[in-house]
Amino acid sequence: MNILVTGGAGYIGSHAVKRLLAGGHRVVVLDNFFRGHREAVPKQAALEELDLRQTEAIANALTHHRIECVMHFAALAYVGESVTEPLDYYDNNTSGTVSLLKAMDQARVRRMIFSSTCATYGQPDRMPITEETGQRPINPYGWSKLFIERVLLDFAHARPDFGFAALRYFNVAGSASDGSIGEDHTPETHIIPVMLNAALGKVPQVNIFGSDYPTPDGTCIRDYIHVEDLVDAHALVMESLKPGDARIYNLGLGKGCSVKELVEAARRVTGVDFKVVVGPRRAGDPPQLFANADKIRRELNWQPKQTDLERTVETAWRWFKNNPDGYGKG
Ligand code: UDP
Repeated sequence: MNILVTGGAGYIGSHAVKRLLAGGHRVVVLDNFFRGHREAVPKQAALEELDLRQTEAIANALTHHRIECVMHFAALAYVGESVTEPLDYYDNNTSGTVSLLKAMDQARVRRMIFSSTCATYGQPDRMPITEETGQRPINPYGWSKLFIERVLLDFAHARPDFGFAALRYFNVAGSASDGSIGEDHTPETHIIPVMLNAALGKVPQVNIFGSDYPTPDGTCIRDYIHVEDLVDAHALVMESLKPGDARIYNLGLGKGCSVKELVEAARRVTGVDFKVVVGPRRAGDPPQLFANADKIRRELNWQPKQTDLERTVETAWRWFKNNPDGYGKG
């Protein structure tokens, strides 16, 4: 299939590109390189250096490359930044997707797989989170993505031959098993990269954001899914997507892990006893978030292969150790 991958130069998008090329697909990467890395785009993929808001240019690219399906990863994705710069989030994420959909409509591309997030659920009272759990985001990032889910539903009603899937990711972790690509964010705020940077001596310590939560060891619980299992799910969804589909799937392992458990895993994997300091809670962090991802397992027979968190951290560590400066400046 001919597939456009927006945000294909970013962390998750680049793993999707690798997976799709390995599956024999033709891949076109669309990225504005605001936070993506040129080095993450393989030579076998065509490149369209465009912004999501360039509707006409995207429509032309879709036609030119005879695109059949769009995997839409491109987005701003820092919760904290979304609180201080909400307009950027609604502009990039929400308006950007409307522009992309307009281009798709113009070029008659009728399939989209959209990167949604468990941030659309906010702080549910009950765990695990199913696709039916009420969606009440608690930050502009979550809202910017939830609005897109709404737009997609309405658009699918208006165009019966349009089919989409919105995949609600939990915490995505790890790197390609061959070590070729990985995670490189600036600034880096995610817990696993922060711990690995501490093991490398790039940051002096890891701050645990609160140990007084109502969880067994007092630290927050999250559901960490390996990026390769996540992109496998995208490929499965794409192959089964039909006109008229409006599908929603959670993507997580369905088991939670606390920050303290992660620290222990990272210390074992790296062999470095990096410094850890327990500090105050971070605003907006719910005590626990973990998925019930039975729906995609049941309907598409998706089976995550990397369910051992220590192994997941190990794949990330390989990338961090071999690329201490990420993709560098080049
Ligand atoms: N966390 C932490 N210290 C850090 C970064 C994160 O204790 O330096 C905690 C955070 O409070 C949350 C978990 O680690 O409970 C995962 O946070 P991350 O930012 O990686 O992902 P999020 O769940 O916010 O999407």
